[in-house]
This record gives sequence, C-alpha cells and structure tokens, in this order.
Amino acid sequence: MIYLDYSATTPVEKSVLDTFVKVTTNYIGNPNSLHKLGFEAKELIEASTLQIANILGIKPNEIIYTSGATEANNMALKGICFKYKNRGKKIITTHLEHSSILKEIPFLEENGFIVEYVNLDENGLVDLSDLKSKLDDEVILVSITAVNSETGLRQPVEKIGEILKDYPKVLFHSDITQIIGKDNIDLTCIDLASFSAQKFYGMKGIGALIKKENISLEPLIHGGASTTIYRSGTPATALIVSMAKALRLATDSLDEKKKYVKELSNYLKENLQSLDVVLNSNDYCLPHIVNFSLNGIKSETMLHALETKDIYISTKTACSKGDYSDAILALYNDKKRASTSLRVSISNLTTKEELTEFVKALSSYLNSLKIS
Ligand code: PMP
Repeated sequence: MIYLDYSATTPVEKSVLDTFVKVTTNYIGNPNSLHKLGFEAKELIEASTLQIANILGIKPNEIIYTSGATEANNMALKGICFKYKNRGKKIITTHLEHSSILKEIPFLEENGFIVEYVNLDENGLVDLSDLKSKLDDEVILVSITAVNSETGLRQPVEKIGEILKDYPKVLFHSDITQIIGKDNIDLTCIDLASFSAQKFYGMKGIGALIKKENISLEPLIHGGASTTIYRSGTPATALIVSMAKALRLATDSLDEKKKYVKELSNYLKENLQSLDVVLNSNDYCLPHIVNFSLNGIKSETMLHALETKDIYISTKTACSKGDYSDAILALYNDKKRASTSLRVSISNLTTKEELTEFVKALSSYLNSLKIS
C-alpha cells in the first residue's frame, strides 16, 4: 500500500495506541468522581493538559477538549458570536476555510450575523489592507485558517494576530489543524485555535479548542463542569492522555522532519513538472501537501484508478462533498481546474520510493485514461 493521504488522517502511532489501551485499562474512574479512582484519572488528565500547554506555549486552563476540530470550530464561531452578540454582528473569514467553518456560516447568517470574506492576493494569501479596511465597529470575530487543507497554503496568522491587537473588540480564531505537528506556530496573538489529534498520529475523536483565559464563550454543550465549564461530558481520560503523547511525539525533532518532507515534496514537484498536470500548490504552501490539476481527466477517475494499484490520495478534503474543490475555485476561479484537482499529502513516514511508484502510476494513467 502507498498511503499519500496524511492530511485526511494519519495512522495512529503504535505507542499512542498503547497509551490509550493502558490508560483505558488502568484508569477506570470518572475523573470527576470524589474517590481515589476519580482523583487518579483527574491527576493524569492534569499532567497531560500541562504537557500540551507547554508544547503549545499556552496555559493549561486555556484548553477545552472536544471531539475534534469540527466541534472546536463550531464551538469557536457559534460560542463567540452568541456570547458577544451585543458587541457587534460581523464576522470576517476567507473562502479557504474548512467545511466545518464554511458550513456554519448560513446558520450564523440565519441568526442575524453578517459574514464578510477578506480578499486574497495573487498568491492566495490574505490581503492585509483589505482586512484592515473591513475592520469596522460591528466586527466581533476574525476566523482565518493557518493552513488550508487542500493546497497546504499557509496564511500569515501570526501577522494577522499582531494587526488585530490594535482592535481589542475583535477576537481572532484560527483553525490550526493542518499545521500542528508539521510546522511551528506562535499562538501569542491568537485568541482561539482549533485542532484534532487524528492529524498528528493520535486517535480519532479527540481534539481541542484553545481559548485564551480572558475570553468567554457560550457553550455548545451544557451540563456538568467536565474539565471546564465550556464543554460538558465525562472527560475522555485515555483520549486526552494519548493526544498529549501524540503531540509530544509529533513535535519532537520537528526541524529534521520538516527538512525531510521538504526534500520529498521537491522531488515530487520536479517529477510532476514533466507530466501533463498543473501545480496548484505554490511556494507559500507547506511541503506536506502537493495539489495539482489534471488535463481532461476527472479527479475522481484518477483517484479510483490509482486505488486499483493500492495508492491512496484525495480529490479534495474528505469532509467536502461538492463536485469541485472549494479552495482551488477560490484561488484560481477556474471550475475546470477545481474539478480536476488532486491532493497528495505526505509525511515523514513517506519514502522517495513510494513517490517514484506514485509518479509512475500517475504517468501511465494520464496516458491511458485520456485515450479512453
Ligand atoms: N479543519 C481542518 C483544516 C481539517 O483539515 C479538518 C479535518 N479534515 C478539520 C478541521 C476537521 O477535523 P475533525 O474531522 O477531526 O473534526
């Protein structure tokens, strides 16, 4: 098998799974129970939370555990809008957000909020002067993803956070799901950030919303206090502990991993240049994602052809169900390009041999599928 779909999800790291099994087996108590078993589970969660906080450069009480980034994104947008609705009604975002943000927008609009999309420059980056011009008194939230999941395009979120420091009424949320474990990110000027463990070799079903301690939030789920008052439900001890482990492992030797992935990515791009495809990822994209469009072949046809050779890639994000890629359409305003795009996502587990095999298979299908 050649797996080139790491941005859709990663396989669980063996030692992370071992931690999950051990904690599930040995820490049976509800962390909120008042007896010894509850206390032991709570202590373990607190140690893991401290570890996550230290890695991300935040405080332990700024972590709200969720089922993943979808829930965290919903919690951030709806939670902030409903909490601060008396301050203003406007949200600013981009057309490059994940579906768990873009699909929330009609709901927010039905509830009286106004959503504006910031312009992108010729490289797909947020046009900072357009952003500034949109920051009127009605704006309560800016939500801009750190790395687009389809192209790997990295937005200057640290710079955007700096700009927004001059607008104390405006909160800044960033979906950092596709950057965690792939590159460093400074969260100093970001008020809220969402991520999911399944993108860095953790278990599916756990993620978090980081919410800086000076900010409040209307919870999506009401009930008992859990680990915070913002998201009720019995804390998922084993998922939390295993996420801390996954994060530690993923951020370990990050510079070496980044260098290796960059080399692989360059090798892949060089090989693609000799084929009848057009690259959609540019120099502002993380090397982990290489997106390109085909000429006259539907992306799904190619995806399934490659599947018969046990090679796995994506047409767009697994969470988006349209006929074309929203991100490629937003970037190039070209429906043909957006309906023939493919995403190859690699990791430090990928080998050069796998990419050679992939390019060989792609090249042969580019010829055979076009003729038929
Ligand atoms: N945001 C981004 C940028 C993503 O890539 C994903 C996963 N495809 C999500 C949010 C949602 O993550 P989850 O499915 O774990 O909730």
